[in-house]
Amino acid sequence: MRPFDFARPSSIAEAIALLDTPVTAVGNGTRALAGGTDLLTLMKADLYAPERLIDIKRLAELDNRIEEGADGLTIGALTTLAQLEEDPRVRAVFPALAEAAALAATPQLRHMATIGGNLLQRPRCWYFRNPRIPCWLKGGDDCPARPGENQLHALFDVSPCVAVHPSDPATALVALDARVRLHGAQGDRELPLAELFAPPTDDRRTETVIRGDELIVSLRIPTTPGTRSTYLKAMDRKVWAFALVGVAAVVRMDGSRIEDARIVLGGVAPVPWRAEAAERVINGADVSDEVIERAVEAALDGATPLVHNSYKIPLAKALVRRALGSLTSPGIRL
Ligand SMILES: Cc1cc2nc3c(=O)[nH]c(=O)nc-3n(C[C@H](O)[C@H](O)[C@H](O)COP(=O)(O)OP(=O)(O)OC[C@H]3O[C@@H](n4cnc5c(N)ncnc54)[C@H](O)[C@@H]3O)c2cc1C
Ligand code: SF4
Repeated sequence: MRPFDFARPSSIAEAIALLDTPVTAVGNGTRALAGGTDLLTLMKADLYAPERLIDIKRLAELDNRIEEGADGLTIGALTTLAQLEEDPRVRAVFPALAEAAALAATPQLRHMATIGGNLLQRPRCWYFRNPRIPCWLKGGDDCPARPGENQLHALFDVSPCVAVHPSDPATALVALDARVRLHGAQGDRELPLAELFAPPTDDRRTETVIRGDELIVSLRIPTTPGTRSTYLKAMDRKVWAFALVGVAAVVRMDGSRIEDARIVLGGVAPVPWRAEAAERVINGADVSDEVIERAVEAALDGATPLVHNSYKIPLAKALVRRALGSLTSPGIRL
């Protein structure tokens, strides 16, 4: 790890003034430090070499509160995954988020990892994480994963980079229609969380559209009465593994009719992947095995597996089938 300066601003304005360097593919300049579980790993591997870190855990305007309002839940950016896993309101009203948090990493990591940092963690692609291997996302010409070891990579080809988005909570939060509040040099802005994520392009070799001078302040999840949700995750071992595939589903029923459904897949694209074709199949339909099966097929519409990852297709289908089956049949346990 290279030497760096360390600053402890006391206000968000002071922090924003220090975050004056745009986010780059290799993350130099000034970086915000929350739990440090990804940032410090990237620095130790020499993938990031910031000149300065700023501690954002003591900023008066950033907090780890989970607050219930008339229209939903507000979650401070410093809230840990452990809090999300344990909070009774999250568990009762937004089980998909509590389940996603509980399935991420390890108990020790979940006590350190903040939700803000979780959403902005970088891909786990083994070529990306190896400092000796150049790759397109790190500013190189090619993606070695495409012709190489791509067992863990994307099914949907939407970027020169085929790494998958690694966050479990992000998949659940996008399905729950969460919004994110950002604060930067140009003031506050709020956007659907789904729009924070964007497949990397030649002009922007990162997976999010957050600006270098912006901080995530909070998330807001709307409450819709009668909504059920779940998050299912396939892993290559039972704990401490990133999602081979994750599925978050949110469903509102009126009797046997599916009023509204949102289905988001993780581990299949560089961003949480909304399965809109599947949603179109089931929205407004009466529940039946046949409807669910059509939605399952539609969820993987457009998938173009790489040489070593076609196993993800039946895996994703199985998770979508289980998630929809349980949410549309009250009483059935997952
Ligand atoms: C062994 C291991 C296993 C893991 N398994 C999983 C898993 O199964 N599922 C999963 O979802 N995750 C997993 N993770 C990732 C882990 O959840 C993240 O590393 C963690 O959530 C990041 O949060 P942090 O607070 O430590 O962020 P940091 O490491 O402090 O920061 C990460 C990035 O976010 C930026 N940042 C942090 N907070 C803010 C903010 N408020 N505003 C703007 N920028 C900010 C930092 O500058 C940095 O670029 C795993 C990590 C490890 C090390
Ligand atoms: S998938 Fe992305 S991160 Fe991995 S080697 Fe290719 S360009 Fe790099």
